[in-house]
Amino acid sequence: MNFEIVLATNNKHKLKEVRDILSPHGITVYGLQDVNIKVPEVEETGRYYAENALLKAQSIQPYTSLPIIADDSGLEVVALNSEPGLNSARYAITCGGHSQAMLNIIKRLEDYQNRSARFVCAIILLNVENRPLIFEGIAEGSIATQPIGDGGFGYDPIFVLKDGNRPMGLMTEIEKNQVSHRAKALKKLLTYLKINGHIPFKVENDHHH
Ligand code: IMP
Repeated sequence: MNFEIVLATNNKHKLKEVRDILSPHGITVYGLQDVNIKVPEVEETGRYYAENALLKAQSIQPYTSLPIIADDSGLEVVALNSEPGLNSARYAITCGGHSQAMLNIIKRLEDYQNRSARFVCAIILLNVENRPLIFEGIAEGSIATQPIGDGGFGYDPIFVLKDGNRPMGLMTEIEKNQVSHRAKALKKLLTYLKINGHIPFKVENDHHH
């Protein structure tokens, strides 16, 4: 039988990515709609990604005894003191959407040589151990001089992955899900679940490798 997890998010893009990454490993990922949980968005008051992910995961803990995962993530631009960082979602709203937010970041970087940036992701797992577990992933890269492609979501079109100098907006879903911050965090989660016997070590019909 498949290992079942509820992902505490209303973000359809995150749900699809997490599902695509975990389902080949014998994990069924439910979105909040699938399990009929309606909770207001939590206020992200944490100082760390993991803290915010924990708040999201805990917000649905009263409604399910299934394992819960939550993701908190952001884009950190080195020359901008790691902004928008924890405020990545809020920054996009303030700018009137991700398209404008991306143009604003490019504009703010005009006078800087250093275009280094990273995507950061913290995943929290609840209801498996009697304490929360944290899995983190980072994708290193840089900010492009203009948006490129329309793959992925959020800030993907201005992010160029360091490894291979590849624009994330030009990656296929399968490609992004092998190299992204979220993929790296979820790989650690998979290792944990395998070592503890929750899911099988071997993946059958894994076409991605
Ligand atoms: P959260 O939903 O509160 O974790 O906010 C995540 C913010 O970071 C949103 O603004 C997203 O657009 C951005 N973000 C997180 N992950 C990604 C990604 O994989 N690609 C592009 N933007 C991302």
